[in-house]
Amino acid sequence: MAASLTGRCDCGAVTITVPSLPDEINACPCDYCRRAGARWGYYKAGSAGISGETATYRRAAKVADFHRCPTCGILTHWDGNGVTPHMGVNMSNFDQEALSGIPVVEDP
Ligand SMILES: [Zn+2]
Ligand SMILES: [Zn+2]
Repeated sequence: MAASLTGRCDCGAVTITVPSLPDEINACPCDYCRRAGARWGYYKAGSAGISGETATYRRAAKVADFHRCPTCGILTHWDGNGVTPHMGVNMSNFDQEALSGIPVVEDP
């Protein structure tokens, strides 16, 4: 049975619940993710529960919105806005011990 897992931003105003552990974690090397230090777990769009207000940022010519906590600034997830069937959750917000053993890839 897959167990759901809840993470939170640094100040705790935003919490994220994923339905299961990701198969892999992507330390995406693109300019944005490298700057943000994001480590993505990919899920079906809408399958992760987000609570709390977020602020968004959309890179030029892209469709996904990157969401962050407006208080502590920590990046929480991205939303493909119906254009991609997936969403990305920043697994840096979760208990790292729970993620041990999950392969980390660098897929741009
Ligand atoms: Zn926060
Ligand atoms: Zn990236």
